[in-house]
Amino acid sequence: MTLRDRLFTAYANLAMAHAAVTDGAQRYGPKHFMIRARLLKGLQNGTMKIGTLLADERIKLVQDKSCAYCGADGKLSLDHLLPKNSGGPESADNVVWACRTCNSSKKDTDVLRWLSAQGRFPFLLLLRRYLKLAIQHSESAGIMDSDSAVAGDLPFDVEAIPTSFPAPAGLALWVAPRAP
Ligand SMILES: [Zn+2]
Repeated sequence: MTLRDRLFTAYANLAMAHAAVTDGAQRYGPKHFMIRARLLKGLQNGTMKIGTLLADERIKLVQDKSCAYCGADGKLSLDHLLPKNSGGPESADNVVWACRTCNSSKKDTDVLRWLSAQGRFPFLLLLRRYLKLAIQHSESAGIMDSDSAVAGDLPFDVEAIPTSFPAPAGLALWVAPRAP
Protein backbone atom coordinates (compact mmCIF):
# COMPACT_ATOMS: atom_id res chain seq x y z
CA MET A 1 0.00 0.00 0.00
CA THR A 2 1.34 3.45 -0.86
CA LEU A 3 1.72 6.22 1.69
CA ARG A 4 -0.89 8.12 -0.31
CA ASP A 5 -3.48 5.35 0.11
CA ARG A 6 -2.59 4.81 3.76
CA LEU A 7 -2.73 8.51 4.73
CA PHE A 8 -5.77 9.46 2.65
CA THR A 9 -7.75 6.46 3.92
CA ALA A 10 -7.00 7.45 7.51
CA TYR A 11 -7.90 11.06 6.78
CA ALA A 12 -11.23 10.06 5.19
CA ASN A 13 -12.01 7.80 8.18
CA LEU A 14 -11.20 10.72 10.43
CA ALA A 15 -13.60 13.02 8.55
CA MET A 16 -16.32 10.37 8.99
CA ALA A 17 -15.64 10.14 12.73
CA HIS A 18 -15.45 13.93 13.08
CA ALA A 19 -18.85 14.36 11.42
CA ALA A 20 -20.44 11.65 13.58
CA VAL A 21 -19.05 13.09 16.83
CA THR A 22 -20.15 16.59 15.82
CA ASP A 23 -23.64 15.17 15.12
CA GLY A 24 -23.69 13.54 18.56
CA ALA A 25 -24.30 10.17 16.82
CA GLN A 26 -23.95 6.92 18.75
CA ARG A 27 -22.96 5.02 15.64
CA TYR A 28 -21.98 5.73 12.05
CA GLY A 29 -24.82 6.25 9.60
CA PRO A 30 -25.16 6.55 5.80
CA LYS A 31 -24.35 10.28 5.90
CA HIS A 32 -21.02 9.61 7.63
CA PHE A 33 -20.07 6.82 5.22
CA MET A 34 -20.95 9.17 2.37
CA ILE A 35 -18.63 11.86 3.76
CA ARG A 36 -15.82 9.31 3.96
CA ALA A 37 -16.39 7.97 0.45
CA ARG A 38 -16.60 11.41 -1.17
CA LEU A 39 -13.53 12.74 0.61
CA LEU A 40 -11.45 9.66 -0.18
CA LYS A 41 -12.38 9.84 -3.86
CA GLY A 42 -11.75 13.59 -3.96
CA LEU A 43 -8.36 13.30 -2.28
CA GLN A 44 -7.31 10.49 -4.60
CA ASN A 45 -8.33 12.23 -7.82
CA GLY A 46 -7.02 15.59 -6.63
CA THR A 47 -10.33 17.48 -6.64
CA MET A 48 -10.26 17.85 -2.85
CA LYS A 49 -7.46 18.95 -0.54
CA ILE A 50 -6.86 18.32 3.13
CA GLY A 51 -8.17 21.22 5.20
CA THR A 52 -5.92 23.96 6.44
CA LEU A 53 -4.45 23.71 9.91
CA LEU A 54 -6.01 27.05 10.75
CA ALA A 55 -9.25 25.63 12.13
CA ASP A 56 -7.25 23.51 14.57
CA GLU A 57 -5.19 26.50 15.62
CA ARG A 58 -8.34 28.42 16.41
CA ILE A 59 -9.42 25.65 18.74
CA LYS A 60 -6.05 25.72 20.44
CA LEU A 61 -6.30 29.47 20.91
CA VAL A 62 -9.71 29.39 22.54
CA GLN A 63 -8.79 26.45 24.77
CA ASP A 64 -7.43 26.98 28.22
CA LYS A 65 -3.78 26.08 28.34
CA SER A 66 -3.79 22.41 29.32
CA CYS A 67 -2.02 19.16 28.48
CA ALA A 68 -3.15 17.97 25.05
CA TYR A 69 -2.94 14.36 26.22
CA CYS A 70 -4.61 14.35 29.64
CA GLY A 71 -6.05 17.85 30.16
CA ALA A 72 -3.94 18.67 33.23
CA ASP A 73 -3.18 22.35 33.68
CA GLY A 74 -0.11 22.02 35.90
CA LYS A 75 3.48 22.50 34.76
CA LEU A 76 3.37 22.37 30.98
CA SER A 77 6.00 22.29 28.30
CA LEU A 78 5.84 22.14 24.53
CA ASP A 79 5.82 18.75 22.88
CA HIS A 80 6.32 18.05 19.18
CA LEU A 81 3.73 15.78 17.55
CA LEU A 82 6.27 14.80 14.89
CA PRO A 83 9.69 14.77 16.61
CA LYS A 84 12.04 17.47 15.37
CA ASN A 85 15.06 15.17 15.44
CA SER A 86 13.42 12.85 12.91
CA GLY A 87 12.35 15.60 10.54
CA GLY A 88 9.19 17.01 12.13
CA PRO A 89 8.63 20.66 11.18
CA GLU A 90 9.57 23.61 13.37
CA SER A 91 6.08 25.09 12.83
CA ALA A 92 3.52 25.99 15.48
CA ASP A 93 1.24 23.34 13.96
CA ASN A 94 3.61 20.72 15.25
CA VAL A 95 3.58 21.68 18.93
CA VAL A 96 1.11 21.01 21.72
CA TRP A 97 1.22 21.56 25.46
CA ALA A 98 2.10 18.49 27.51
CA CYS A 99 2.30 18.02 31.28
CA ARG A 100 5.37 16.64 33.01
CA THR A 101 3.72 13.27 33.67
CA CYS A 102 2.74 12.73 30.05
CA ASN A 103 6.07 14.05 28.80
CA SER A 104 8.12 11.70 30.94
CA SER A 105 5.88 8.75 30.10
CA LYS A 106 5.90 9.45 26.37
CA LYS A 107 9.60 10.37 26.01
CA ASP A 108 10.63 9.81 22.37
CA THR A 109 7.81 7.40 21.56
CA ASP A 110 5.61 8.31 18.63
CA VAL A 111 2.47 9.96 20.05
CA LEU A 112 0.03 7.57 18.33
CA ARG A 113 2.04 4.55 19.42
CA TRP A 114 2.24 5.90 22.98
CA LEU A 115 -1.54 6.42 23.15
CA SER A 116 -2.31 3.04 21.63
CA ALA A 117 0.01 1.30 24.13
CA GLN A 118 -2.31 2.70 26.82
CA GLY A 119 -5.39 1.49 24.95
CA ARG A 120 -6.34 5.08 24.14
CA PHE A 121 -7.62 6.33 20.81
CA PRO A 122 -6.27 9.80 19.94
CA PHE A 123 -8.48 12.87 20.23
CA LEU A 124 -9.75 13.51 16.73
CA LEU A 125 -8.28 17.00 16.33
CA LEU A 126 -4.91 15.76 17.56
CA LEU A 127 -5.04 12.95 15.02
CA ARG A 128 -6.10 15.41 12.34
CA ARG A 129 -3.05 17.56 12.97
CA TYR A 130 -0.82 14.50 12.99
CA LEU A 131 -2.22 13.30 9.66
CA LYS A 132 -2.02 16.73 8.05
CA LEU A 133 1.62 17.06 9.12
CA ALA A 134 2.34 13.53 7.84
CA ILE A 135 0.68 14.31 4.49
CA GLN A 136 2.48 17.66 4.17
CA HIS A 137 5.79 15.98 4.94
CA SER A 138 5.21 13.16 2.45
CA GLU A 139 4.06 15.53 -0.29
CA SER A 140 7.01 17.87 0.10
CA ALA A 141 9.43 14.93 0.27
CA GLY A 142 7.85 13.49 -2.90
CA ILE A 143 7.25 10.09 -1.30
CA MET A 144 3.45 9.82 -1.47
CA ASP A 145 3.71 6.98 -4.00
CA SER A 146 6.27 5.04 -1.98
CA ASP A 147 5.28 1.73 -0.47
CA SER A 148 4.40 2.61 3.13
CA ALA A 149 6.25 -0.49 4.34
CA VAL A 150 9.57 0.61 2.82
CA ALA A 151 9.29 4.39 2.96
CA GLY A 152 12.40 4.65 5.14
CA ASP A 153 12.94 7.11 7.96
CA LEU A 154 9.84 9.18 8.55
CA PRO A 155 8.97 11.69 11.29
CA PHE A 156 5.68 9.80 11.78
CA ASP A 157 4.84 6.17 12.46
CA VAL A 158 2.86 4.73 9.56
CA GLU A 159 2.05 1.54 11.44
CA ALA A 160 0.59 3.48 14.40
CA ILE A 161 -1.96 5.35 12.25
CA PRO A 162 -5.36 3.81 13.07
CA THR A 163 -6.94 1.76 10.29
CA SER A 164 -10.28 1.33 12.05
CA PHE A 165 -12.15 3.77 14.21
CA PRO A 166 -14.23 3.05 17.33
CA ALA A 167 -17.92 4.03 17.41
CA PRO A 168 -18.39 7.82 17.69
CA ALA A 169 -19.82 7.47 21.22
CA GLY A 170 -16.31 6.55 22.41
CA LEU A 171 -14.52 9.42 20.65
CA ALA A 172 -13.84 13.05 21.53
CA LEU A 173 -12.61 16.00 19.49
CA TRP A 174 -10.20 17.36 22.08
CA VAL A 175 -9.12 16.73 25.66
CA ALA A 176 -11.29 18.11 28.47
CA PRO A 177 -9.21 20.41 30.72
CA ARG A 178 -8.85 19.26 34.34
CA ALA A 179 -6.89 20.08 37.46
CA PRO A 180 -3.55 18.21 37.75
ZN1 LIG B 1 -0.74 15.19 30.59
